[in-house]
Amino acid sequence: MPVKVDMDKIVSLCKRRGFIFPSSEIYGGLASCWDYGPVGVELKRNVKETWWKAIVQDRDDVVGLDTSIMMHPGVWAASGHIDNFTDPLVECKSCHLRWRADAVEGKKCPQCGGELTEPRMFNLMFKTLMGPVEEEASIVYLRPETAQGIFVNFENVVTTSRKKLPLGIAQIGKSFRNEITPGNFIFRTREFEHMEVEYFVKPGTDEKWLDYWVKERFEWYVKLGIRKENLRLRQHGKDELAHYAKDCYDVEYLFPMGWSELEGIANRGDFDLTQHAKCSGKELSYRDAEAGEKYVPYVIEPSAGVDRSVLAFLVDAYDEEEVEGEKRTVLHLHHSLAPIKVAVLPLSRNEKLTPLAKEVFKQLCPNFMTDYDDSQSIGRRYRRQDEIGTLFCVTVDFESLEDKQVTIRERDSLAQIRVPIEGLEKVVEAKLKGEAFDASPLWATREK
Ligand SMILES: [Zn+2]
Repeated sequence: MPVKVDMDKIVSLCKRRGFIFPSSEIYGGLASCWDYGPVGVELKRNVKETWWKAIVQDRDDVVGLDTSIMMHPGVWAASGHIDNFTDPLVECKSCHLRWRADAVEGKKCPQCGGELTEPRMFNLMFKTLMGPVEEEASIVYLRPETAQGIFVNFENVVTTSRKKLPLGIAQIGKSFRNEITPGNFIFRTREFEHMEVEYFVKPGTDEKWLDYWVKERFEWYVKLGIRKENLRLRQHGKDELAHYAKDCYDVEYLFPMGWSELEGIANRGDFDLTQHAKCSGKELSYRDAEAGEKYVPYVIEPSAGVDRSVLAFLVDAYDEEEVEGEKRTVLHLHHSLAPIKVAVLPLSRNEKLTPLAKEVFKQLCPNFMTDYDDSQSIGRRYRRQDEIGTLFCVTVDFESLEDKQVTIRERDSLAQIRVPIEGLEKVVEAKLKGEAFDASPLWATREK
């Protein structure tokens, strides 16, 4: 059984090993804003690329899109965000802290016990001004979801992609929500990244497609190594459905703070296209020439958070193990998510070893994200690579100078094999694809 991990351990590992830093840290940080470091940016890129591959590349019924963050304000009036994208807010009359009304029990401030104001509705969209004139007409919003950029391009995409329905349009990008109470590290932040699909279907087939996408998306997390017992599905009650949704399921993950939403899969009906058609005056329907029919499609929307996926993958991969009487912390990240695939480690920093080790690095890095590290003892370097989830450590030792071979150590089994430097990239490639290590782990067989 892997260890139960608390959030502090994850935050500390992330800081220590260069996954995630507090934003503007030298100025004391900015609430709930985080920066991805050299290892974190690779993990995050891998999460997005794996999603994009599964959703866009591996399918013939989904195409991609990348729309702007700032859009015509009419979009947000039509989508209902200006009127409805709100949370009830209460403020403490003594300490002036603000709370989400539904997160406070009773009428007292959880911080100081002071009296709270009556709840008022607080819009979660960030507002800014476009252009040099500060007037009402120049107000624009930072998008709170990427979905609307997809809806307003429905006609453009259908026409140019020459695809028939059902058709999905996928987008990854930043969204902004002025959350009253962000928190739990990168779980709820005011600036975050969305991975969203709007999957347009014929009305009447929407329930079937909702089921399909719920299963599909649940399985995606399982395939990428998240343990099934840490995932569950939860259907929204009628009272918690968003203003646009007909039905909605959450994929939830057992985070250190408890079960929380990883992804929502909603049936948005024809709400968005109908609203945009009405407000823009442009017809947004689909003409099926073969069947001789015309209709406004329904939409199934799997909407995932990149950052909270990153967090779930980190938490689920985290483990502390004992090897030869020593504790090691290791991230058992799936091979497609691991930030670094191979680390090249000369046994020591030595003028004889360095040229060969550098050569091995140059041989591998065009093929895989490769790290080179010759600082400190080999044991400490292994520990560092384990902690960032590096799949393979390639060690160049003095024998390598003679036999032109290196040792590959596998992260999870700690098995080691000796292979020729020539063609090394092909061996690593095969191992990445799941080829077994033809060796029993040295640490398990070695005499104590
Ligand atoms: Zn207070």
